[in-house]
Amino acid sequence: MFKANDNFSKISENYLFSAVSRRVDDYCKANPGVDVIRLGIGDVTLPVSRAAVDELIKASSEQAARETFVGYGPEQGHPFLIEAILKNDYAARGIELSSDEIFISDGAKSDLGNIGDILSKDNTVAITDPVYPVYRDTNLMAGRRVITIPCLASNDFVPTVPRDVIPDVIYLCYPNNPTGTSLTYDQLKVWVDYAREHKSLILFDSAYEAYIQHSDVPHSIYEIDGAKECAIEFRSFSKTAGFTGLRCGYTVVPRELVSHDGYCLNDMWRRRQCTKFNGASYVVQRAAAALYTPEGKLQVKENIGYYMTNARMLIQGLADAGLTVYGGIDSPYVWVKAPAGMDSWSFFDLLLNRCRIVATPGVGFGECGESFVRFTAFNSRMNTEEAARRIKLLSKHTQSII
Ligand code: PLP
Repeated sequence: MFKANDNFSKISENYLFSAVSRRVDDYCKANPGVDVIRLGIGDVTLPVSRAAVDELIKASSEQAARETFVGYGPEQGHPFLIEAILKNDYAARGIELSSDEIFISDGAKSDLGNIGDILSKDNTVAITDPVYPVYRDTNLMAGRRVITIPCLASNDFVPTVPRDVIPDVIYLCYPNNPTGTSLTYDQLKVWVDYAREHKSLILFDSAYEAYIQHSDVPHSIYEIDGAKECAIEFRSFSKTAGFTGLRCGYTVVPRELVSHDGYCLNDMWRRRQCTKFNGASYVVQRAAAALYTPEGKLQVKENIGYYMTNARMLIQGLADAGLTVYGGIDSPYVWVKAPAGMDSWSFFDLLLNRCRIVATPGVGFGECGESFVRFTAFNSRMNTEEAARRIKLLSKHTQSII
């Protein structure tokens, strides 16, 4: 008689996005023909850059000839991509890593979940609140204890190291989804020092690294001394270069990372990947490598610049409406406080009904997200300009309730 993993009963259904689309559908049915601007989506809107697409086409055509066909590759990833990553993302920032410390993946989400395979089920895991729900749900599925660290406006959304319960594993995501805020070197150092002191492991999600503008914000956790002893870093080409559909990312597991009970996590992750993963698609890895060519870098920069201009427009429109805004400087997410007395869903309804704009209710990311909404900069310039204009008009309304 087989049994299912009953830990699944501990995770709630993810109602957030279905609840959002239900409300939007109802609104559109009641108001046929209205142009609703969707600023809730976390998917990019610009196409994949030319340099990557050209390489994708070239690599695909090579698959058609016996001489150039490539089958299974190394599970860890092709050396041409690993070398490009080492040189551009790490050596260029003074970080020394070796090729066996980089693992190419089909995106950060799978690795963020799969990393649990090499960690004990007895670990206590800390996540921030609000949070990207994958960290919480994958650990609840595995039966681990999860504790939350509140990130509040009163503390600029900077998480404070826990003192009552010392977590074994800590997820940090910076630049952050959903708050759009970042951590400075000093703020991240506090966590690295804490993890080293307590022999905790930091799982550092850096999916939005490419959006960093501030010079005092680290691009990699390994810019902090000692981080190689205590941190795994997850990166993704999804938001960097429009690879949400192509699927490619990578994970860094330093060789210095050894568990309290003496296991080398790099050896374990390699063993895990060789057993359960046959590598990211060869043609997609070729496309990812093209992002590190001079043309590729330029195109990535242009795309990020496009979204960041959108973010600035949104911030301006929201500020003009008298609203309090966070994030949107080192990240494509803008985190907005609802007018006084309103919760996330009432503010969502106000934005939908008065501005015909869809945002994401912050409470869907955790209790501390209550009374916030998240806007994304992933939209066309035209839609973003129009959204900012509509939000400004909200000012009369917000003034009366603030
Ligand atoms: N991490 C964060 C914080 C994200 O917001 C996302 C996607 O939205 C991911 C990871 C997943 O990235 P990928 O597309 O590489 O799986």
